[in-house]
Amino acid sequence: MSSRKPKLFTVLKAWNLTPNMIRVTLTGPEIAAMDPNCRGANCKIFLPAEGQSRDEFERQLQDGPRPVVRTYTVRQLRAKAQEMDIDFVYHGDEGPASAWAARAKPGDFCGFGGPGPVKVTSFYANSYLIIADMSALPLAAATLEAMPEDATGTAIFEIMAPTDRQHFRIPPGIETHWIVNADPHVQTETIPRMVAALDWPAGVVQTCIAGESGVIKTLRQALLVDRKLPKEDCYISGYWKIGLKEDEHQTMKRAENAIA
Ligand SMILES: Cc1cc2nc3c(=O)[nH]c(=O)nc-3n(C[C@H](O)[C@H](O)[C@H](O)COP(=O)(O)OP(=O)(O)OC[C@H]3O[C@@H](n4cnc5c(N)ncnc54)[C@H](O)[C@@H]3O)c2cc1C
Repeated sequence: MSSRKPKLFTVLKAWNLTPNMIRVTLTGPEIAAMDPNCRGANCKIFLPAEGQSRDEFERQLQDGPRPVVRTYTVRQLRAKAQEMDIDFVYHGDEGPASAWAARAKPGDFCGFGGPGPVKVTSFYANSYLIIADMSALPLAAATLEAMPEDATGTAIFEIMAPTDRQHFRIPPGIETHWIVNADPHVQTETIPRMVAALDWPAGVVQTCIAGESGVIKTLRQALLVDRKLPKEDCYISGYWKIGLKEDEHQTMKRAENAIA
């Protein structure tokens, strides 16, 4: 992350990009100095408590205790205009970040940490495999937009409703599939089945894969263990876990990494 103290950003606008995806445009003078190429990098969103004043929240960001914090992805950054878009999956009011985004209106505020490094920065493969559920659509879209025009491969997106399909630049050689899983709390078996049935390409395969941790575990086994794809060619990451809050999910990931 570029600076340890979170910055305080203001909501410029918030709207439903698709029925289950809320785009929040944040503004703040610090955005002008950020790397305009940080689309797809992860970041931390610090959430004010309901009813908390801006001054109180700013003090809390500086002096603690740490507010509720969640991990998101920079979808777009317009440095000159001092604007940044973050896309929040709306998965009900149980999650503080999902609930905050659903209520967000111009003039609201949140803390921002980061951005971290962009996940996929070099494109050298013969073929690409991109897989994302809605939480990882901002990453997948940013990655596809950065790919060379002649890239080939497969992209599989899991969305909650047919109308959650988004339109962004995808190289024409990438075969794209949108599959609908109305209840993301039921782990999809369709994606692992589609991956198993892929006509496996020759040469180097690079992956950019993220989503629900249970699905990711199955895909990691299929790609890294069974297919023996080199780790360095693969970004593959669990972004959330059915039944766990983000902090609990992070603790689980740390414990798993310690064992591996
Ligand atoms: C590197 C990284 C980048 C990420 N980028 C994005 C992003 O750009 N956009 C985005 O929307 N998410 C993104 N996520 C996922 C996001 O951090 C989690 O979904 C987070 O749990 C949301 O916080 P919350 O407060 O809404 O819910 P929490 O309080 O963490 O969880 C409450 C409940 O909601 C469930 N839940 C959490 N996420 C989802 C979901 N997506 N669908 C259905 N149920 C869910 C949990 O299982 C839990 O039962 C990213 C995660 C990582 C690690």
